[in-house]
Amino acid sequence: MGCTLKNHNKKHRTWNVILFSGARSSVKKIKITKKTKLLFYMIILINVMILLSIANYVMYKFEEKVMEQEVLNKEIEKRDLVVKEVKSEMEGMEQEYLRLQEDAIEVQRSIEEFKAFEELLNDIELDLPIDPTIDGSGGVEVLGEDVREGDISERLIELRSQLPNMISEFEMTVEKLLAYEAELRTIPTIMPSKTGRITSEFGTRYDPFTGITSFHSGIDIASSLNTPIYATADGIVTFAGWDGPYGQTVIIEHGNTYETLYAHLNHTDVQVGESVKKGDKIGGMGTTGRSTGIHLHYEIKRNGEYVNPYIYMTFHER
Ligand SMILES: [Zn+2]
Repeated sequence: MGCTLKNHNKKHRTWNVILFSGARSSVKKIKITKKTKLLFYMIILINVMILLSIANYVMYKFEEKVMEQEVLNKEIEKRDLVVKEVKSEMEGMEQEYLRLQEDAIEVQRSIEEFKAFEELLNDIELDLPIDPTIDGSGGVEVLGEDVREGDISERLIELRSQLPNMISEFEMTVEKLLAYEAELRTIPTIMPSKTGRITSEFGTRYDPFTGITSFHSGIDIASSLNTPIYATADGIVTFAGWDGPYGQTVIIEHGNTYETLYAHLNHTDVQVGESVKKGDKIGGMGTTGRSTGIHLHYEIKRNGEYVNPYIYMTFHER
């Protein structure tokens, strides 16, 4: 449909509005007077007003949308930040987990080492003829072998909480072991000579023919003249020289518990008050004093009592 306005007559100021719809349809003429003109302007004004209000509404809606979008963007930013935080937190957790795993492996290894060490210690203690004053006990709780993967984190938390105790326990055990090792250095656990055969054993002997009970306070080891004789533990020489039927003799004090004596020596290599280490040469084998042949008479006293040297001498060979 079309609409055309024609200025028909300037003098009378009347307007004709020709209305037509399509090329073939009839044309309608409407005469426009001053009144109709006013009406026409008013309609236009109303239309403009409607359009303006629509535009206003659209603008308002648009602004609303923009604001919504801004809020949404801020929300997205916030969410991104949270995601970032969570991600870094998770990364931190992962690193902590790895660190814990490393710790666990380290502790497990330490425990295994310690366990092996402890077993060795227990074996030594079982073999030892006397009760050492050092207590070798004090185990560390080792976690079960058949732990499923899902339990690892729980295990780690548990292990983490146990760590300080484990470490202090381990350190205490190491200290005990070191003390034990130091103690072992003062126990005469080696052979006084590298070569030789035992010609007389330690202990009480009863002769059924004579009826005489005799006590041999040491062990006799026979070898060639000047066979090196060694201190069997760390200690201090308390006697070096001639001692009646013992001949040339060396006596060594090892801490507060043990004392060793080496008799019938051909010569002595140490002086009274000298500090000796386990394995230091102290003299040579001989046959001085009341002796029937070249041999070493070797004694061990524990807290003043004679003990069988053989058990100590062969300690490292078992
Ligand atoms: Zn003897």
